[in-house]
Amino acid sequence: MGMELFKHIRDEFPILSQKVHGKPLVYFDNAATTQKPLMVIQAIDNYYNTINSNVHRGVHHLSQLATDAYEQARVQVQKFINAQHAHEIIFTRGTTESINLLAHSFASEILSAGDEIIVSRMEHHSNIVPWQMACEKSGAILKVVPIYENGELDMEAYKQLFTEKTKLVSITHASNSLGTINPIKEIVDYAHSHQVPVLLDGAQGIKSCGMDVQEIDCDFYCFSGHKVYAPMGIGILYGKENWLDKLPPYQGGGEMIKHVSFEETTYNTLPFKFEAGTPHVEGAIGLQYALKFIEKYGHQHMIAHEKELLHYAENQMKIIEDIRFIGTAKEKTAVVSFLLGKHHPTDVGTIIDFMGIAVRTGHHCTQPLMDYLGIPGTIRASFAVYNTKSEIDTMVKALRTAQQMLN
Ligand code: PLP
Repeated sequence: MGMELFKHIRDEFPILSQKVHGKPLVYFDNAATTQKPLMVIQAIDNYYNTINSNVHRGVHHLSQLATDAYEQARVQVQKFINAQHAHEIIFTRGTTESINLLAHSFASEILSAGDEIIVSRMEHHSNIVPWQMACEKSGAILKVVPIYENGELDMEAYKQLFTEKTKLVSITHASNSLGTINPIKEIVDYAHSHQVPVLLDGAQGIKSCGMDVQEIDCDFYCFSGHKVYAPMGIGILYGKENWLDKLPPYQGGGEMIKHVSFEETTYNTLPFKFEAGTPHVEGAIGLQYALKFIEKYGHQHMIAHEKELLHYAENQMKIIEDIRFIGTAKEKTAVVSFLLGKHHPTDVGTIIDFMGIAVRTGHHCTQPLMDYLGIPGTIRASFAVYNTKSEIDTMVKALRTAQQMLN
């Protein structure tokens, strides 16, 4: 059923019909960024052709139209993750900026020396380094949830990490390197039983799992638009109203203030308190249309399609000699990370690039995870709604050829 629904979907992604090195492009680097459908590209085009203007500050017609469009985009995101209020959605540059925003605000208002933040071993650098910086500023320390060999979190160890000093849990919804989908409900419920708030890094989870922030009850959630068919440079931080009200602003400037004088400046209400300066209006509108695109096909259908591709790929690839899958959790996004014998991932990636196949190789910004696994990196194929089983067949063939060449 899934395959039938998506039969013509590639028509919506002109970039996919090109050739690379004379071969049809097989784009399997979706965990790094997805391609953009025409709906998104046209929405951006339309914005600049018809209503471009600075938002919030103008009384004139175009400024009002641009403001309405920007705020409608916020409402679209609110609905997509089922937030209670639109003002709980802060537009940012993406996951990285969202986490930096929160880490900055926590460091200046919540954390003091000796406090503890829980992260996991499978985090992306962007969910490690901002917290290390917050620790440096505040004297807090990081505690790390270990994982099992198969890439699943050690939940018993997680529970042992809590003390009365724990101030935040910041864990990924799904791992970009391994595909592991974490038990986020259990993570949140346990943290809340200790009155500890939770940030979930949704960079990978948003496309491959979806999110209902009220059901999961996380205190913060963030994702990047570009990994969910939207433009680069736009993303969001969701925060529960009571938390966002309590936290100080991240950057100062226009838009985020109520009144400025040299004696005293007061800050704007949510969400503007966290959106200093002219925002990425075109990006927000692009994100809105990417979410509309997902609605058009049905997110559950898309997720089912990705799962079908994942299972097909794992089955087809397991016959490749000397293949070693890295990350074999029970619950996985459409990510296959692997090694071919002793061959360096970069060599394999470079050879199959010449056959038109785009995969990612390296540590995937998860060096502590690679260190734990004792490998320099992996080859990672990650799928999206426009990928097909025949593309997977092409990759399997290419991998075998690469292996022969390297042997
Ligand atoms: N977190 C995870 C799990 C990711 O996969 C990524 C990107 O690969 C990020 C954070 C950072 O996202 P961005 O570079 O869009 O800010």
